[in-house]
Amino acid sequence: MKPQRVVVLGATGSIGLSTLDVIARHPERYQVQALSAHHRVRELADLCRRFQPRQAVVATEQDGETLRELLRGEADCEILTGPAALAAVASAPETDTVMAAIVGAAGLLPTLAAVRAGKRVLLANKEALVMSGQLFMLAVAEHGATLLPIDSEHNAIFQCLPPGRSRDLAGGGIEKLVLTASGGPFRGWTAGQLATVTPAQAVRHPNWSMGRKISVDSATLMNKGLEFIEACWLFDARPDQVDVLLHPQSIIHSMVRYQDGSVLAQLGNPDMRTPIAHALAWPERIPAGVDPLDLALIGRLEFERPDTGAFPCLDLARAAMLAGGSHPAALNAANEVAVEAFLTGALAFTAIPQVISQVLAQMPVSPASDLATILAVDHEARERALRLVGAAA
Ligand code: NAD
Ligand code: MG
Repeated sequence: MKPQRVVVLGATGSIGLSTLDVIARHPERYQVQALSAHHRVRELADLCRRFQPRQAVVATEQDGETLRELLRGEADCEILTGPAALAAVASAPETDTVMAAIVGAAGLLPTLAAVRAGKRVLLANKEALVMSGQLFMLAVAEHGATLLPIDSEHNAIFQCLPPGRSRDLAGGGIEKLVLTASGGPFRGWTAGQLATVTPAQAVRHPNWSMGRKISVDSATLMNKGLEFIEACWLFDARPDQVDVLLHPQSIIHSMVRYQDGSVLAQLGNPDMRTPIAHALAWPERIPAGVDPLDLALIGRLEFERPDTGAFPCLDLARAAMLAGGSHPAALNAANEVAVEAFLTGALAFTAIPQVISQVLAQMPVSPASDLATILAVDHEARERALRLVGAAA
């Protein structure tokens, strides 16, 4: 068997490192073709020494020079810089599989480049799909890309859907997709308690170890909002076909409810190496280094409804999806700005949904079927959010 040649975009991040951990367990199956980082050049140099990729991509010329110095005589890899290089390695003829694990809107262009080159695309970068859903899914169909979800919820749903199903959920006997959510570190807190939350508290997730942005998104429930939009696009679901259920133990990663009353769930320890290994090997199965699930030790699985009063982000995302067109892209951009401002101490935790809802109220819903419109909406929503953050500081 020829090894799959894999590009890991965002290799120094939480998903990137978990991907390389799985890859390292199966050297006969996977060969690292290219790795990317933004400015974390030292970490990338370590990964290049270990995995010997053909190419490495960093943000700037200066980062490239530093990497070249660090790798002199230790790795024979071509060093490229800038966003165009990310798209180039993602779509290169030598590439079989692309792990899209850059955080935020910065991942859109390289992920779309991989899709347009018909690659096997492992999608962790949910923001790319939220921004460009219609365009993205059309490109997957048009270019024959294989799109496999890495987000644990969507990977769970993918596993619970009938193989080779048609796009029509109802026609396939499916009533609901049920996304589970841990509820984050502040589950059960009141709006009053949330007002004084600090970044250090927000990034301390009870079950998962993740990058800072997605950790804050999990704490506000915007992560579930983005995942709601992601589920609609990935599985061609109407918004009323997707439910959200809090499940604090994060053992059931999501479920599919069928019309006959059956509910299929995918369970596992909260470790992203499971969905990553599933998508890397699909339709086969390989060891991922994950501890076996011990349900007797866990004892109980609990469920509750999300508190959309104290955590308005979920409803903001739902409303943006219902409004359609450019609104999900505007929501995503405003959220990225608000989260960054919260992390730097310039915005209160409870002001995050306020900034997003004000930006959405200021922006009309326009059709978002081309990339230029999506990027313009992203830009405008960022500008508006920055102004609101400045006014709040
Ligand atoms: P992270 O912050 O740990 O890593 C982000 C990676 O992207 C790093 O390699 C960083 O160098 C790179 N990067 C950041 N900004 C960049 C830019 N402007 N241009 C190019 N590269 C850039 O993030 P993460 O937790 O690994 O999450 C990555 C993506 O996966 C996010 O979209 C997140 O929502 C999604 N995801 C993560 C998890 C998880 O458990 N961490 C679970 C599900 C989905
Ligand atoms: Mg998830």
